[in-house]
Amino acid sequence: MLTQINGLHHVTSLASGAQENNAFFTRVLGLRRVKKTVNFDAPEVYHLYYGDETGTPGSVMTYFPFPGAKRGRAGAGEVGTTIFSVPEGALPWWRERLASFDLHGLKEARVFGENRLYFEGPDGDGFALAEVPGDARAPWLAGGVDADHAIRGFRGAHVRLSDGGATEELLRFMNYEVRERADGLVRLGVPGGNGADLIELETLADGTHARQGAGSVHHIAFSVDHREAQLEVRKALADTGYSVTSVIDRDYFWAIYFRSPGGVLFEVATNEPGFERDEDTAHLGQALKLPSQHAHLREVLEEKYLEPIHD
Ligand code: ZN
Repeated sequence: MLTQINGLHHVTSLASGAQENNAFFTRVLGLRRVKKTVNFDAPEVYHLYYGDETGTPGSVMTYFPFPGAKRGRAGAGEVGTTIFSVPEGALPWWRERLASFDLHGLKEARVFGENRLYFEGPDGDGFALAEVPGDARAPWLAGGVDADHAIRGFRGAHVRLSDGGATEELLRFMNYEVRERADGLVRLGVPGGNGADLIELETLADGTHARQGAGSVHHIAFSVDHREAQLEVRKALADTGYSVTSVIDRDYFWAIYFRSPGGVLFEVATNEPGFERDEDTAHLGQALKLPSQHAHLREVLEEKYLEPIHD
């Protein structure tokens, strides 16, 4: 079993516009933009990172905004809802706040005894806030949301599959244990995990496959402490038969990727070196940071491809 895995590291999704995406996460949800860089594999597109003060693993929501991208279609084989943790009693305040921004899909629900507020992001992205008592993670408080309400980080991810069985087996191998089970829904967590360690697997009766587009989750990344742990995980997954990429340097973490049985792209990312690698804490996320392989493209990227983001 892969006891090296702590829970989620980041969630990466697709958007149709950088400015709107940035405003939503920083002004509506009150997260901090902790990095403004580009997609290392397609540098004409931004890669924007939002999270707590330093982008602690387990708090980091990231986006590739493709200008004018068509919306995705919800269905099986994807992360349907990204769930954030907020303090107990915070949801009525959030409901009023989100309604004041005219967000779509506002809906309250109780899931396995947990109070949730569901809502949609600017591209129809599926989100929920969950009241989690005693979440000790420190929130970012300079984003206009006070300590009684501010997001603590991820709670986890809700995954829709046409058959959850093989993915459940994989997650159990990846240090997750089954916590609860109901009709078509199983909830898993990591013992002693990082707080962002909930995964819900929902088996859809109607298995229409999701189509990826703006508002869709592109992949979810699981956290390991360091590169040694990542190599152990990589070897164990490969020995189990998964086709895992080699280790890729993403500047702020090291990444490996593989496709889970239900179709969702999984990544395992290191907690080192982190987002303060090339900026000090006070200025995180402000300047456009380019990886060394794309540094020579700065002028053309800024003038031709990357829309200005007004904070
Ligand atoms: Zn990633």
